[in-house]
Amino acid sequence: MSMALLEVDRLTKRYRLPRTSLWRPAPVVTALLDVSFTVEAGRSVGVVGESGSGKSTLARLVMALESPSGGQVRWRGQDLHRLAPAALRQARRELQMVFQDPYASLDARQRVGRIVAEPLSVRREVGRDERERRVAEALEAVGLRAADAAKYPHEFSGGQRQRIAIARALVTRPALIVADEPASALDVSVQAQVLNLMRDLQAQFGVTYLFISHDLAVVEYLCDEIVVLREGRVVEQGPAQAVLATPADPYTRALLAAAA
Ligand code: ADP
Ligand code: MG
Repeated sequence: MSMALLEVDRLTKRYRLPRTSLWRPAPVVTALLDVSFTVEAGRSVGVVGESGSGKSTLARLVMALESPSGGQVRWRGQDLHRLAPAALRQARRELQMVFQDPYASLDARQRVGRIVAEPLSVRREVGRDERERRVAEALEAVGLRAADAAKYPHEFSGGQRQRIAIARALVTRPALIVADEPASALDVSVQAQVLNLMRDLQAQFGVTYLFISHDLAVVEYLCDEIVVLREGRVVEQGPAQAVLATPADPYTRALLAAAA
């Protein structure tokens, strides 16, 4: 039996908003409702949907940064949100994330070497030399230089910062990278470079992505399967070519038309 890396199973997330009146119950937003899909090793999955469709909420739940209101996220067959602390730390090394905004996601006070090494620091077994070697390897893999480890984030452009964030995600040699709109905050001129890099890493290191975007064309470029989210629900999913060639849902057709 082959086990999927990641299984998102009827995942639901509700947020309670502040009360507007003493006499009424607090309003609730359903950010995700019964979302299910699987990510097999080596088969990248793209999640597309317009702003507010629940994409970032999904990313936070898959990274165990928040807990679900219902359903499960299974990592290698186990309920991620019920793992014991040691098992969760182990899962977190294998599951890394690249955030949208490389200005907000890199600590400005830390040198690049520290930032990139951060996911390794929970691993006591990785000694200092090995850590430096891994950081150098990760920086070079994203087209930066080993010597850049001594610099600070402000010395880099937006596109280079996102390369640093990608190096940080790679440094543990993860099985899955969750990328939440990793090019959207960048200048249009460098977006393609970052996406090309992510595709090269896929080919070179066999990285599997859960790749989140509002842009169907971007997802098509990097992913084997597509999940289309609308208002927190899956409206369509399947192999990328099939979804794009014959989109069954009008919402998917609208997303395609918007991208053309
Ligand atoms: P996307 O990333 O696709 O733009 P989000 O996951 O950020 O969508 O948001 C989905 C919905 O959930 C939106 O209606 C948003 O306002 C709501 N939401 C997200 N996070 C919170 C939160 N922490 N508290 C309340 N509502 C939230
Ligand atoms: Mg988002």
